[in-house]
Amino acid sequence: MDLLFKSTRNSDLKMKASEAILKGLSDDGGLFVPERIPEFDTSLKAFSEMDYRETAYNVMKLFLTDFTEEELRSCINKAYDEKFDTPDIAPLTKAGNAYYLELFHGKTIAFKDMALSILPHLLITSARKNNISNDIVILTATSGDTGKAALAGFADVPGTRIMVFYPKDGVSPVQRKQMVTEKGKNTRVIGVDGNFDDCQTAVKKMFNDKELKQRIGSRGFQFSSANSINIGRLVPQIVYYVYAYTRLLKNGHIKDGESINIVVPTGNFGNILAAFYAKNMGLPVRKLICASNENKVLFDFFNTGEYDRNRDFILTSSPSMDILISSNLERLIYHIAGNDADKNKALMESLINNGKYDITPGMKEKLECFRGFFASEDDTADKIRSLYEDTGYVIDTHTAVAGSAYDKYVKATNDTTVTVIASTASPFKFTRSVLTAIDKKYDSMGDFELIDELSALANLPVPAAVEEIRNAEEIHKTNCKVSDMIDVVEEYLS
Ligand SMILES: *Cc1c(COP(=O)(O)O)cnc(C)c1O
Repeated sequence: MDLLFKSTRNSDLKMKASEAILKGLSDDGGLFVPERIPEFDTSLKAFSEMDYRETAYNVMKLFLTDFTEEELRSCINKAYDEKFDTPDIAPLTKAGNAYYLELFHGKTIAFKDMALSILPHLLITSARKNNISNDIVILTATSGDTGKAALAGFADVPGTRIMVFYPKDGVSPVQRKQMVTEKGKNTRVIGVDGNFDDCQTAVKKMFNDKELKQRIGSRGFQFSSANSINIGRLVPQIVYYVYAYTRLLKNGHIKDGESINIVVPTGNFGNILAAFYAKNMGLPVRKLICASNENKVLFDFFNTGEYDRNRDFILTSSPSMDILISSNLERLIYHIAGNDADKNKALMESLINNGKYDITPGMKEKLECFRGFFASEDDTADKIRSLYEDTGYVIDTHTAVAGSAYDKYVKATNDTTVTVIASTASPFKFTRSVLTAIDKKYDSMGDFELIDELSALANLPVPAAVEEIRNAEEIHKTNCKVSDMIDVVEEYLS
């Protein structure tokens, strides 16, 4: 029997994994969730003997049950190869009081590569399985890192096109340059006059626009999403939590069955939701610590049970977490409502209409394994500097938000459980913020000069992803208003 996927807003709608991957978002605006979260059929001990690919297969097969073994292994082998600069794919580094799970060894040096290097293969395989002949058009809103990771994954993949919308003034110079220099012939990159939430809302609206879908359908196209709402992104992200736990086990840092804590710097709530799924599959996890920057809507939610997006949007040094509507939280809400689509739908409607909702005390009880903490801009810079001074290890701003949140958690609880912090970007992606946190003198230097300084200071080679864009030509020059995004899409698909 295949594991089926349901919409978080309509339980009657059920489909196979490949169909859910193809659709991305359900027609009713809901997100796809598995009917039940499967349990591991492999022991932790057995997992600890496996490499990354084998771990990936044994986790993902439990969700993608309508993929044959050959199909799934082929997707995994194409994704987790020499594109990553270490055969470990996701290495663990101990620094100070925690283990940092480095998720930035892929093509674009941020954790989005972990899922976006496999999503194109899952999508193409899904299309083939479902006899789709339309070209798949990936429409993506990005707060910075998704954009380039999606472009890198889909560039020149036959049968696909990809359009990326980013907030014109809301991404780092390296993030921007990585995107606008993309050479793939099936790619478009557009700067938008607005913030990430504006971009994401406009993209979601296009997904739900039946007339638009009909118009592009008649021209041989159909939309799909590479955003973290696609179940094909969520499932590959579960893998590295299993891998991290079993590396700790293999290396004797924990005993079989011992619980760990996981800290995740959070924006759209995809990465930490994957850790929640891993826990529910049987991974021994004590606390999931949700780290926010000054856009601390999730911190407030975990502390009060009220989600309220009615507040100013703050631009921080961790732009990939500058988000007030964390889309993937809807999946958690659905689960803690007892997989009740109607209850979830009512809350999401309240979010759309009033910008907020309250969960019931019963739902709040089910959040017991979560703790929320946040880091101010000063806290973030302090964490980068102190960790560097104490250990020589340099982390990026997003990871530093998590490190600082973890320090606050330890201070509040004295919990000494072995802890893994998801390290979501290379410090080379946010060099200016990272180096000025260590010493203000760096602020007067140019962007690429800083990269060489960081290389010397951290004693690390400059990653290929950064080296490549040093002298690359800017290809994508289009900017548009939020209200014109739909016209840009129609023009490209005409
Ligand atoms: C996307 C991103 C995050 C946030 O992850 P979510 O899954 O959206 O919560 C954190 N850090 C970096 C560097 C990212 O690119």
